[in-house]
Amino acid sequence: MLDYLIVGLGLAGVSFCEQLESSGKTYKVISDTSQTSSIVAGGLYNPVILKRFTMAWKAKEQLELSTSFYASIEKKLELKLNYKLPVLRRFASIEEQNLWFEACDKTGLEDFLSPKLLKNTNSGIDAPFGYGEVLGTGRIDTAAMISKYTTYLLSKELFWQETFDFEALQMDSEYVAYKTIKAKCIVFAEGYGLKKNPFFKYLPMTSTKGEYLTIKAPELNETCAIKSSIFLIPWEKDLYRVGATYKWKDITNLPTEESKIELVEKLDALIQCDYEVVDQVAGIRPTVTDRRPLVGRHPVQDNMFVLNGFGSRGVMIAPFASEQLLNLMERNEALHPEMDINRFTKKHFKN
Ligand SMILES: Cc1cc2nc3c(=O)[nH]c(=O)nc-3n(C[C@H](O)[C@H](O)[C@H](O)COP(=O)(O)OP(=O)(O)OC[C@H]3O[C@@H](n4cnc5c(N)ncnc54)[C@H](O)[C@@H]3O)c2cc1C
Repeated sequence: MLDYLIVGLGLAGVSFCEQLESSGKTYKVISDTSQTSSIVAGGLYNPVILKRFTMAWKAKEQLELSTSFYASIEKKLELKLNYKLPVLRRFASIEEQNLWFEACDKTGLEDFLSPKLLKNTNSGIDAPFGYGEVLGTGRIDTAAMISKYTTYLLSKELFWQETFDFEALQMDSEYVAYKTIKAKCIVFAEGYGLKKNPFFKYLPMTSTKGEYLTIKAPELNETCAIKSSIFLIPWEKDLYRVGATYKWKDITNLPTEESKIELVEKLDALIQCDYEVVDQVAGIRPTVTDRRPLVGRHPVQDNMFVLNGFGSRGVMIAPFASEQLLNLMERNEALHPEMDINRFTKKHFKN
């Protein structure tokens, strides 16, 4: 009998596998390719909400955990994943500069907002009011991580590539059984796939589709990620990611012409050199009505758990939420109440 069966190998699934490995637990993973969020993600980690100049939820704790967490995966996979990358917030006006400098003095933010006004020195970019720099930022190559993690699990015979068949799941008070697998517990980490999960689809998950363009701009020569109405992220040589969009109705992973037009318009307002669009990708962010993760034990099935709802900040939340989940399962430590799915139990389950 295994300790754990995990369904889903995006950021949530990988981070939970890592927690299990460091605790010496046995497990198997089942995943398909129906969701693409972790593969198309920009992979940025940045503790500040750049629209309002406020800290993201639990960002300081998450950032501290993330650094050692991704370093340990890099070591295991022998693959560079963490690229330190300055994030510059482009100011649209003097008023925005003033708001930034006010925010720099606020408790919590002072460690992450540089109080220096940076002048734009790149002639390929239009930024007459300059930038503010966020400190401690970077990018995780999430696509490479998931691809290599899959190979790693396959080499250890710990991975089945298939769509989870709920008809084949048997629940017992002591174990769960799925085809030839028997495990003490099951953890669902399906991203937006949760909508098809009969046990957890009651949770208030919404879809936020996001699309990125990849552009080739040999004259741009930018080495920082720039946030204006969109992010411009240096990718590989001469390549940049541009995005992302936020759409709430379309739940497909297909790139759209509408988003391409929107992104090109925003890009044209930011850069002033030639470029060519060379790729476009899309994915669904698993977002939650109250903007907090969905973590915890099923209200009725004691050995069934969920790890989800990372929204647009999966890179930083995944190590934090997966550690909390393991602490709940192995040591019965309470989850942070704001992410515990218990907050929705009363509404959906009697007693
Ligand atoms: C365009 C875009 C840009 C983003 N940029 C950033 C960023 O810069 N920084 C950041 O922190 N976050 C970013 N995000 C958000 C981040 O990608 C998500 O928070 C994160 O990927 C969610 O991870 P997950 O593992 O919960 O879900 P997913 O990545 O969706 O993974 C779930 C996995 O489970 C599988 N699955 C689902 N159902 C089943 C089933 N029934 N059977 C078997 N397998 C199943 C799916 O195929 C998938 O492999 C971005 C997202 C998008 C879409």
